[in-house]
Parts: sequence; C-alpha cells; structure tokens
Amino acid sequence: MPKDEKIVLGIESTAHTFGVGIASSTGKILANVNSVYTPKSGGIHPREAAQHHSQIAPEIIKEAFKVSGVSPSQLEGIAFSAGPGMGPCLRVGATIARALSLRLNIPLISVNHGVAHIEIGRLTTRCRDPVVLYVAGGNTLIASYKDGRYRIFGETLDIAAGNCLDVFGIKACIGTMPNPEIRAREGKKFYYLPYKVKGMDVSFSGILTTALKLLKEGARLEDVCYSLIETVFSMLTEVTERALAFTEKNEVLIVGGLSRSVRLREMVEEMVKLHDARLMIVPQEYAGDNGAMIAWTGVLQLLTNQTVTVEESRVKPRFRLDEVELMWFERVWDITYS
Ligand code: MG
Repeated sequence: MPKDEKIVLGIESTAHTFGVGIASSTGKILANVNSVYTPKSGGIHPREAAQHHSQIAPEIIKEAFKVSGVSPSQLEGIAFSAGPGMGPCLRVGATIARALSLRLNIPLISVNHGVAHIEIGRLTTRCRDPVVLYVAGGNTLIASYKDGRYRIFGETLDIAAGNCLDVFGIKACIGTMPNPEIRAREGKKFYYLPYKVKGMDVSFSGILTTALKLLKEGARLEDVCYSLIETVFSMLTEVTERALAFTEKNEVLIVGGLSRSVRLREMVEEMVKLHDARLMIVPQEYAGDNGAMIAWTGVLQLLTNQTVTVEESRVKPRFRLDEVELMWFERVWDITYS
C-alpha cells in the first residue's frame, strides 16, 4: 500500500440493499458486499427492510473486511448514504457509521446516494464529464456537471421508471425487471400509452395505469410489455438527447439498476451516435445500489475535507443531488487517469 493511500469504508442502506464497500484513494475497489431484501409480496416495506439491514449488517461488514484484507485500523474514514431514501433504512446505515467512526476515531462522511451512483460510474468507465441518465427503481433523472454541482436537467414528476416497470411486472404476475423486458421481445402489436415529456421532465404513472388497464381488458401480455418498454425508454432517450444537445457534451453515462436493460442501452446508443458522442454504462456489479459507490465517494469527500460531525450526520430522506458541492470533480481525473 502506498504511504499516502487513504482507505474508506462505505455503507449503503437507502432502500432494499444493505451494502458495505471498501475503496482506496488510488481508485481501487477493495470490497463490495451487498445483501438485498426482497419482500414476500408487493413493494418494499421500509420497516421490514430496515430490520433486514440491521440483522444482516454484522455479517456484511465482517465479509467486507475479509474480502478486502483490510483491517479496521487501516481505515481513514467511514462513509454512509445519507439520502435520498427511506427513513428507517437510512437510519440503520447512519447509526452503524457513527458507531464505527467514534470507535475508530476517524472522520464520518455523509454521502448523497445519487452522487455516489454517478461517481462509481465515472470511476469504472473513465468518463470525464458526461450527461448522466440515472435510472433505477427509486430514481429517474438526467443530470450533468455545471459550476461545481451536478445539475438536474430533468426528472420524473411522479414514479421512477424502474418502479413503473417493476410494479407492472408484479401486477401482471411476471415479476420485476428484466421480466417485462424479456416478454416485450415477443410483442407484435403496439398500443399508444400516454407519452409524457414535459420540458425535460417525465411522468410514468399514467403509463402504468393505462398499461394495467389494457391488460385487464384482455390485451396480450407481450404486446403490453412491448408498448410499455418502448414508450418508457423512448421518453428517457428523448430527454437524454435534449440534455446532450443543450450541454454540447460528448459523453453519456447510464447509471442505476435500469442501466442493465438491453433495450434501453440500444435506444440510447443509437441516439448518442447521431451526436458523435460516446455511451458509457456502469458495470453490472455497480449498477444497482451498492456499498462500493458510497466508499468511493467517501474517498473523494475525504480527500477534499468534506466530512461531518456526528451532530451534523442526520439522514436526509429527500437529499437532492444538486445540494452537493463537488469539490473533487476535476481532481478525480488525476486519480482515475493516472
Ligand atoms: Mg439507487
């Protein structure tokens, strides 16, 4: 280990995932151990998910130390996901992070979950200054860096794109993504669903209602899946294209759980080519919520002295991406490109 290398442990617990990652200031991910709570039926119940997190936590933390070969005394910071997310879930991660920080007497780092999705994307794809499409079960937004922050160019006005597809899958008894997308490949007939792009913002709740109604009225499942997938992804592609044209940047980065979708990648890729830009996609293991992204963003914040006291470490269920000042934005290039 180089003498000035700094190692940070990061804890993710905004929703269904409890994850612990360990990252170093040389840009290495030393551990990424995650456990996903799956509800027996329906959506995530915040209290049940929080219970899962507190039960599994000791095991996941031990495993992260084991995988990384790092000992607690080598750590120089403890990072945690402060939001956005579900209060009960967030508090589990924050409480553990505070305890570790006090016990080891090292700085505590409060990380924005969305910023972390972007930073792990930048680290692992080596892109510099992309237009970011962040699509997941709980979040949908288009953001890009300007004047010290990730600015939100567009976002969902109601439910997240991933939530729309997952809820449809559950109600249609085929399960969550990628199942609706797989069924869509057998679709032939296209139904017009309410395509709602308002400025740079998108809305998916009307699409979900209409798709479920079609199904109830006897439309073929595969056809509804096909119409749903094409409509939702076209909307995401359209707003990403607008942000790309507006910012005149030359990279698009897709992060979040839905970045695994083959069809979404295809559509965005086609659009990106027309603009002579490059498409980057976060690697699978860092697509969904994970501890590594929190650890890595923790490293960046530690290097730029963005730490908090225990008193300042309250969780923020509505923590917005654009609240965070990115002191490290350009500095990270020295680390990841060297
Ligand atoms: Mg997420």
